[in-house]
Amino acid sequence: MLAIRGMNDILPENIRAWQHVEHHACALLGAYGYEEMRPPMVERTELFRRSIGEVTDIVEKEMYTFDDRNGESLTLRPECTASLVRAAIQHGLLRTPGRRVWTMGPMFRYERPQKGRYRQFHQIDVEIFGVGGPSAEAELILLSRRLWTALGISGLALELNSLGSRAIQARYRTRLVEYFSAHASMLDADSARRMETNPLRILDSKNPSMQALIEEAPRITDQHDAQARAHLDQLLAMLDEAGVAYRLNPRLVRGLDYYTGTVFEWTTSELGAQDAVCGGGRYDNLVSEIGGPACPAIGFAIGLERLVALLETQSVELPAAVPHAWLASNGDRASILAHAVAESLRDAVPELRLVVDAVPGSFKAKLKRADRSGARIALLIGDEEARSGTIAVKDLRARVPQSMVSIDDLAGHVARNVLTQ
Ligand code: ATP
Ligand code: MG
Repeated sequence: MLAIRGMNDILPENIRAWQHVEHHACALLGAYGYEEMRPPMVERTELFRRSIGEVTDIVEKEMYTFDDRNGESLTLRPECTASLVRAAIQHGLLRTPGRRVWTMGPMFRYERPQKGRYRQFHQIDVEIFGVGGPSAEAELILLSRRLWTALGISGLALELNSLGSRAIQARYRTRLVEYFSAHASMLDADSARRMETNPLRILDSKNPSMQALIEEAPRITDQHDAQARAHLDQLLAMLDEAGVAYRLNPRLVRGLDYYTGTVFEWTTSELGAQDAVCGGGRYDNLVSEIGGPACPAIGFAIGLERLVALLETQSVELPAAVPHAWLASNGDRASILAHAVAESLRDAVPELRLVVDAVPGSFKAKLKRADRSGARIALLIGDEEARSGTIAVKDLRARVPQSMVSIDDLAGHVARNVLTQ
């Protein structure tokens, strides 16, 4: 039996990179005042249809939707903003303005699997509820920039656009329809259909043959009113002041319909076609559209598979998790003692990474395993040592003679010789 296509096992040899990302994200989000929450992976299908939008790739063709045994239509979450908003409304989190939350976990989209694009993938999702001004945008962008630095990743570029209010989007829609109608023969089938339903989505087309036409399309920024312009200008001033480089991209619309105002993406040139590592934006209408109070909101999601791939491409050194010590026993008496000795050692030296090898077998085989593990020292207990209350300490990385240490002195010896190196 094999795993489902597009759904990956994350194996022990890759887990350090994942833990590196999770550890730094968790620490940094906590430091900026964000609280973690964990909504379920399944929601009513209706939630995603209403939030992401009926005429989007995600809702039209990518959702894992099924009827449960009561005949209710449920969907594996394709993204997490809708779930967090639903949960925030349900549990009254929006009563405190400026609430900052985040979550992390798997998302599911029935896409064509390829490098950087999977059917189960993972995101870190970060949201701010109740802040209407551009300080929320600036904070999210600065937080993400700090995360790239903390992870050791460089070279990500920030793209920004502002989609403005629904009124601006409606005016823009008219301009787009005029433009694309004048070039109807150049539209692919998907785009021709979207002319009728959701013309903004045409700009999000990944079809290479559509790109030249999209490049020449009218710009949404030309439809901005004074308020949209002021919001964007203030944000840009904040970013300039904080030394953030960005590129304004008037064609950036993102693949979900709930966005209003600022949208942004962090991209890389090092991963091929799947170049967006993080994307987000403002969605000031979504909370009320799915039954909550009027509440401006903004968020972003990081694609963890792509971030982990970048760690590899950029050869970022990851903290090693090799054991410090490998405790091996040989003989009945010694093997009974081994775990008790190890537990006392762990009590005395809590940060010690120690593996116990007390299965039947020769010291020779166990030393081989100890060596392969990368451990600094091996602690050997035979029946003779068990009787005399001593342990043989063998340095696996330096040519020094083996020493005999009394069990009572072992913790001090290990702490001095192993943790300090
Ligand atoms: P893309 O344009 O690459 O399809 P998207 O705009 O659909 O991305 P979002 O829904 O905004 O992506 O999700 C945010 C991030 O999640 C993306 O920038 C990307 O890093 C990651 N992501 C999205 N879909 C996938 C997928 N199928 N496999 C792996 N990562 C993904
Ligand atoms: Mg997509």
